[in-house]
Amino acid sequence: QAKARGRGVCCVFTAEMDEQLRARLALEMDLRQAVEERQFELSYQPIFDLKSSKLCGFEALLRWHHPERGLVGPAEFVPLAEETRLIVDLGEWVLRQACMDAVQLPGDLRIAVNLSPVQLIFGDAVATVRDILAETGLDPRRLELEITETALLANDNRNLGTLRSLKELGVRIVLDDFGTGYSSLSHLRLFPLDKVKIDRSFVRDMTAHSDSAAIVAAVAALAAELGMTTTAEGIETQDQLDAVDRAGCTEAQGYLLGKPQPILKAVHTTLFRRSPRNRNQGSRARDT
Ligand code: C2E
Ligand code: MG
Ligand code: MG
Ligand code: MG
Repeated sequence: QAKARGRGVCCVFTAEMDEQLRARLALEMDLRQAVEERQFELSYQPIFDLKSSKLCGFEALLRWHHPERGLVGPAEFVPLAEETRLIVDLGEWVLRQACMDAVQLPGDLRIAVNLSPVQLIFGDAVATVRDILAETGLDPRRLELEITETALLANDNRNLGTLRSLKELGVRIVLDDFGTGYSSLSHLRLFPLDKVKIDRSFVRDMTAHSDSAAIVAAVAALAAELGMTTTAEGIETQDQLDAVDRAGCTEAQGYLLGKPQPILKAVHTTLFRRSPRNRNQGSRARDT
């Protein structure tokens, strides 16, 4: 491979690069072992309906219990898991675990699982989801699959067919992190989406910049017009919660309302305690 790039080029190899390469290789080896030994855990973050203040469900977020480094977040290993395609195996574990946990949840609470574009392209996503639904007995309507716009762009539209087949299974398709990267309004029309999650960078700016608030309001209105709901991500303050409510978003998620927690803790803290919104604005929650 180095040869192909021509003589001389391959020799520019600094100590720093060597260090980076070593770190990467070490992480890759650890990750392979972690997937084999299932050193993972899911954290669940609640999602609330803004009108009723009721709990809609939870998003499953992946955590790695690294034997030496302790708890490692997905930002640190999902990219490498995607590059090495380990995410296909890992993602299947996530989906199975989340569906197993979901059937234990009361009522019609939903569970949201993040799907990597690599799973759509290289994993047999449709068969995997179908099998896991059958295995766990979870009502497909209670499963939400979160994909990012990268997944819509990759693989020359073949993912469109995959998403349509997934939707035929009865699950809901959610566009995650909308407003970052290659956001295009045509995606909202072209792909079979049930919900759009508005990225937390917009939510963060909304209270300070009226143009961010206008964008969120426009996206929420457009989504509603197209028959989709909207979740505002990353709600950290009461002002942000009020702002996304005014902007017409349908659901909200963020540290203010609940941090990601192990399943039992997540269920207990959200079902047996009133949400911050209820606590602060009891009268408003009731008048809807
Ligand atoms: P995401 O799907 O957009 O998930 C939301 C992220 O925002 C989570 O970070 C969550 O902990 C964080 N978050 C939630 N509320 C707040 C808030 O109020 N403030 C701030 N600052 N952050 C908040 P996390 O768990 O570190 O996950 C990061 C990303 O990793 C996720 O973004 C998702 O893209 C990816 N990821 C997580 N689990 C999985 C998985 O099972 N499979 C795949 N393929 N990707 C995953
Ligand atoms: Mg997500
Ligand atoms: Mg997101
Ligand atoms: Mg995000």
